[in-house]
Amino acid sequence: MKLSTMLRTTVRRVPEGEALVSGERRWTYRALLEDAEKAARVLADRGVKPGDTVAAMSFNEPEFLLTAFGSWILGATFVPVNHKMQAPEVEYTVRHSGTVLGVVSGELAEIARKGGPDIGWLTTAELSALIAEAEPWEETHDDDEAPAQVLYTSGTTSAPKGCVHLHRTLVQLATQLSLNLGYESDERILVAMPIWHSAPLNVCTLPVLFMGGTVVLQREYHPIGSLEMIAQESITTFFGPTVAYLAPFRACQAAGRDFADFDFSTVRRWTFGGAPIDAAATEKIVSSYQPGGHYQLFGMSETGPSGSVLRPEEQLRKPGSIGRAAMLGVQMRVVTAAGEDADPGESGEIWFLADTTMKEYLGNPEATAAAFEGRWYKTGDIARVDEDGYLYVVDRMKDVVIVGGENVFSLEVEEAIALHPEVADVAVVGRPDPEWGQQLVAFITPVEGAEVTAESLRTFLEPRLARYKIPLEVVLREALPRNPSGKMLKHRLREDAAELAG
Ligand code: ATP
Ligand code: MG
Repeated sequence: MKLSTMLRTTVRRVPEGEALVSGERRWTYRALLEDAEKAARVLADRGVKPGDTVAAMSFNEPEFLLTAFGSWILGATFVPVNHKMQAPEVEYTVRHSGTVLGVVSGELAEIARKGGPDIGWLTTAELSALIAEAEPWEETHDDDEAPAQVLYTSGTTSAPKGCVHLHRTLVQLATQLSLNLGYESDERILVAMPIWHSAPLNVCTLPVLFMGGTVVLQREYHPIGSLEMIAQESITTFFGPTVAYLAPFRACQAAGRDFADFDFSTVRRWTFGGAPIDAAATEKIVSSYQPGGHYQLFGMSETGPSGSVLRPEEQLRKPGSIGRAAMLGVQMRVVTAAGEDADPGESGEIWFLADTTMKEYLGNPEATAAAFEGRWYKTGDIARVDEDGYLYVVDRMKDVVIVGGENVFSLEVEEAIALHPEVADVAVVGRPDPEWGQQLVAFITPVEGAEVTAESLRTFLEPRLARYKIPLEVVLREALPRNPSGKMLKHRLREDAAELAG
């Protein structure tokens, strides 16, 4: 079954149910399908054929979803594009994916056209106007082994890779996530995080549409405005990365608002994930965002994303954990360097086996081959297993630094350094060292007016970390390089560190 066929099933069940809300604009399921069929006609009129690739680069606008469903109705592949990208990044994505037509928010059109001068671009407003005039396109085939999405990874560890996901496996992913998260048919989910991201699209939007609930699109996330939307639209599920849960406290303080005044009484579920979270942040989120259950999700573009979940009743018992290898429909292993399953107290690489894992990295058979062991997908993330079988992400394999034969998890060192009152942001990487193999370098953004030296850091860390985990060098930076998703680009810092070493 294709994703568009799934939508048809919902239309048959709840034709007049509210499917989509965007400001003043509202769609029933019947209207959403009809507009998607009209979008398919618009795309076909512009030359899109089955097997072609269509991209959308937009804020959270309904036309993003109409482009996606329109592409699927036509049998084309859909590529969500990061709306914060600059022209060279757009160029890479358009070229690499073989996109023939793009849909773009008006204010991003100049960047998009500069990055993809050889393909056609429609603004979301143009698409909307054309849809109003178009005849619905009649969907004729239901090839669910065809690619539906190419999801680009965040490009944290190297250039972004395009994960190819099929209709069949995305349909299964949506169904599985509904079961794992307990979405109901009267769900009202707020999609405030960028919808081109795998989680807002595949964990939030598609499962709720297939359940017959309502997707409320907010054009752009705002720390106060998004929380206000909860009462305005009777939201039952909120999703965001950890930072979207923590930013409102500071924003309220700055705006002279009282966090306790937000009305969250309709919320059943708070979901977060995408980056490591510590115990303090978990406790703060769980105690402040009430009522409702809290779900911490671990996953990646390659898995759709799905992977593991820490459920509400486990949050305070196992804060910071990503849960157990127990997600419905997903097999999970933690594999030690010796190739065995990790025992309690040990750590190893997380592996997944699930029907919902990507088919391949687009145009990159070497990377695909390297990422799989048989049908098992090797995540490149390292987790420690506790005595109850709960997993804790300790680092990415590429970020582990080996000092004199000892493995140092950069996350552990960063967490210790972050406790220093004069440190605003930190990243720890390794640089080659003739004697030790590698040495640790800490890149630090100090709080305004402060000065952090290698000596003062050493004094601070000595009671907290084993000696070999204490960075020998400290480099002060005004800002650290993060990608548009907020993830630290350590490969760049590693290059800088290597240069420092000469
Ligand atoms: P690239 O693969 O291009 O280097 P990326 O891995 O950052 O980039 P994504 O697929 O967007 O690209 O992110 C998935 C990664 O994010 C995971 O492999 C993991 O490292 C991290 N991650 C996601 N969720 C969690 C979580 N709940 N806890 C800890 N880490 C997480
Ligand atoms: Mg990755």
